[in-house]
Amino acid sequence: MAFEDLTGRFQMALRRLTGKAKLTENDIDEMMREVRLSLLEADVNYKVVKEFTEDVKVLAYGEKILKGLKPGEQVVKIVNDELTKLMGEETSEINLKTNDMTVMLMVGLQGAGKTTTAGKLANFIKNKHNKKPMLIAADVYRPAAIEQLQTVGQQLGIEVYQEGLIDPETIVKNGLKYAKEQAYDLVIIDTAGRLHIDDSMMDEIQKIEKLSKPDEVLLTVDAMTGQDAVNVAETFNKALNLTGCILTKLDGDTRGGAALSIRKMTGVPIKFSGTGEKLEDIEVFHPERMASRILG
Ligand code: GDP
Repeated sequence: MAFEDLTGRFQMALRRLTGKAKLTENDIDEMMREVRLSLLEADVNYKVVKEFTEDVKVLAYGEKILKGLKPGEQVVKIVNDELTKLMGEETSEINLKTNDMTVMLMVGLQGAGKTTTAGKLANFIKNKHNKKPMLIAADVYRPAAIEQLQTVGQQLGIEVYQEGLIDPETIVKNGLKYAKEQAYDLVIIDTAGRLHIDDSMMDEIQKIEKLSKPDEVLLTVDAMTGQDAVNVAETFNKALNLTGCILTKLDGDTRGGAALSIRKMTGVPIKFSGTGEKLEDIEVFHPERMASRILG
């Protein structure tokens, strides 16, 4: 699982404090030095690390903490709360219309897990919110992407609308019309992913965003890519009205730093996490649970 290294190091750093009856500022500084290094090694953005370290110190230096009962435990709680804050504090709800069709746009770079996640998400919302979903295959640059979405759809018993490799705007327009006629109440559009962000890609997704008026624009990012994931999110967020991101591959043996940087750096909430290759491996992202998991 991601964060194993981070968890081990946090535990070691914090354990040194928890046995002590009294703490000094020096104890806090030593602990925070270790925490800081382990966050940087987990590929958390340095600005985020700096701010986090300063915030924890200010709180932990407080008289009440240093001279209070069980000071080490109080410091652990501060670290836990500040980690939660980094990831957005509250769980970010998914926008679903109650009386009309909900439209979601999936964007992201190739290989991030966008197509798989489109299927996972459709299935998750179908089961949890009792929706009738349809998928639109608008990734027209790789024939394999359409086939892949169809395979995912078949496995889940979810219809996939596709028209082959024609222009994606037409597919989306026709697909949305078809979904309305068929009384689907959730449409998830899989857009093209490329290896690198380029202007024509953004241009195309912007056009699809404009015509489909999505309730959610969800960026799929690979947690394994650390700070690159943050750069990707910043670029997409400039061009589109991102409403959330989905961090995939959190099950991997990764440093996982993206989870701790992305919200703070972009303001975009993490709404879901991908935790495996199977189509049921998707979870709502809960900042406080993730913080507890990181602390072990
Ligand atoms: P796309 O190019 O962004 O559409 O990416 P795909 O959906 O084709 O996924 C790329 C690879 O990542 C596939 O092998 C997926 O099975 C895998 N994948 C996607 N999400 C996850 C995840 O949460 N965990 C793991 N371990 N693998 C994932």
